[in-house]
Amino acid sequence: MLGMSTDAGSTEHGQPTHFIAQKIEADLAGGNFRGGVVTRFPPEPNGFLHVGHAKSICLNFGLAARYGGRCNLRFDDTNPAKEEQRYIDGIKEDVRWLGFEWAEERYASDYFDTLYAWAQKLIEAGKAYVDDQSGEQIRASRGDLVTPGTESPFRGRSADESLELFAQMKAGKFGDGEKVLRAKIDMVSPNLNLRDPVLYRILHAHHPRTGDAWCVYPMYDWAHGQSDWIEGVTHSLCSLEFEDHRPLYDWFLDTLIDLGVESPSGVTYRPRQTEFNRLNLTHTVMSKRKLRALVERGVVDGWDDPRMPTLSGMRRRGYTAAGLRAFVDGVGLSKRNQTIELARMESSIREDLNEVTPRRMAVLEPIRLVIENWPEGHVEMRESVNNPEDASAGTREVPMTGELFISADDFMEEPPKKFFRLGPGREVRLRFGYFVTCTGYEKDDAGRVTVVRCTYDPATSGGNAPDGRKVKGTITWVSAEHAVDAEVRLYDTLFAEESPEKAELDAALNAESLKVVSGAKLEPACAEAVAGEPIQFERVGYFVRDADAAGGAAVFNRSVGLRDAWAKAQKKG
Ligand code: ATP
Ligand code: MG
Repeated sequence: MLGMSTDAGSTEHGQPTHFIAQKIEADLAGGNFRGGVVTRFPPEPNGFLHVGHAKSICLNFGLAARYGGRCNLRFDDTNPAKEEQRYIDGIKEDVRWLGFEWAEERYASDYFDTLYAWAQKLIEAGKAYVDDQSGEQIRASRGDLVTPGTESPFRGRSADESLELFAQMKAGKFGDGEKVLRAKIDMVSPNLNLRDPVLYRILHAHHPRTGDAWCVYPMYDWAHGQSDWIEGVTHSLCSLEFEDHRPLYDWFLDTLIDLGVESPSGVTYRPRQTEFNRLNLTHTVMSKRKLRALVERGVVDGWDDPRMPTLSGMRRRGYTAAGLRAFVDGVGLSKRNQTIELARMESSIREDLNEVTPRRMAVLEPIRLVIENWPEGHVEMRESVNNPEDASAGTREVPMTGELFISADDFMEEPPKKFFRLGPGREVRLRFGYFVTCTGYEKDDAGRVTVVRCTYDPATSGGNAPDGRKVKGTITWVSAEHAVDAEVRLYDTLFAEESPEKAELDAALNAESLKVVSGAKLEPACAEAVAGEPIQFERVGYFVRDADAAGGAAVFNRSVGLRDAWAKAQKKG
């Protein structure tokens, strides 16, 4: 396990900050779990991970690290109809990218034999039976919160008959949905999950790992707790929607123990389930089903589209793992579901990017700045600070010439008083360059300014005027001769709607979620930018190079802008 800096549920003074950390400390203090804390992160490989999963990952891996334990990566691969190897590979890549390494890579399918044998034990003990009813009939007879369920006509079937039928189910004698194995618990339980839940269904589907060996597959509830027990998990952490499943989790394990099944990993305890609130974010959807729909319908450019809340999308967007971990830890845990503002996540990302990104100069909408008194053909290497937040990042040399690109919005023909950039007769500082004074400008037929003329003051090389005169603005620039051409992709939220989970997806989409700017001009160092390593374009925002190339031009994705409205609002509040 890497020594990650997630808070993992404790303050720097070692006090547990949330109820799960408190529970673990109480358990350890009470002498439980002497072998150390064992957790697991249990994704179903039916899609790529999203930022909600990051919360579960940071929690499970973080707590194991903090309490000297271990965390397994367990694929909950019990539904072959929806699961694929590429999702397994993607999930592993995402967990590692977030900064965690699992103790063991496990699969629920590793336990199919054991689960089958335990199911037979339940049948022998009269605690499970094969039901011939259709899914429809089972649902209809389950009742609801106000209506008790009714018992299946097959509930009284003998153990021997059920055993035989269960064997035939496994042997492929029946078609999908013809029979199921159900636990015999209580059809009038106030908890619907205890009304004879289904343990196995028939599914003639090819499994990515077990191939065609099985055609009966365990349901989540039957697989999960038992897998936890097999792995010696101490704390089985899951999101709140499983709270109502906990009595079933306990029933299965307690019943197996009552029936004399020995602890498969030789531990003296059995796992306990604890629930915590899911992470939800505004302006996005988090369910894999909905994310898959966006991909399949081509609304986005794949699971790793930079607008997706997937970890692969965020990585491609230039989000850092450290920024995400800080966000997830900062949000904390509770027993109540809440929706976090997307801007809060961006704020965490921005904070991290501010510390780690090298600065570069870039002009998204270029116009020319011609310095009339610049010596013909002269190229001057200007020493430029890489990161004012980090002295160890050093400096780089940026070539300056007599013809530069500046941003169209750094010039106004008739600037208002508060505009501190260039205008006729006005003087500004060129970042890491000289003071320049505007002497004129040219427009094209459409009336757009295309060239601004100026003179520079060679005495201001150090960034200030020896005579003490001040300029109010500093603008960024790129030498025309040395500029790197780029396509810049400006991303905004995928959904305009704050709560798209509740809305009709198409209507909630943000039509402006991607703006492509072609013809951006970047300083030469950007040619060496590596995909996946974010940088800051000074005064513009945080960007990361994309592996894509647009007709030979480099492509950069905007990660986040520079303005932090969220942090500002927090300070005011
Ligand atoms: P989805 O509904 O998006 O498919 P899921 O819960 O079915 O999500 P799993 O792969 O089954 O996804 O989840 C793996 C683990 O991640 C589970 O323990 C689950 O509780 C947790 N998890 C999933 N989504 C979130 C979330 N938004 N916040 C916190 N934990 C989550
Ligand atoms: Mg699920």
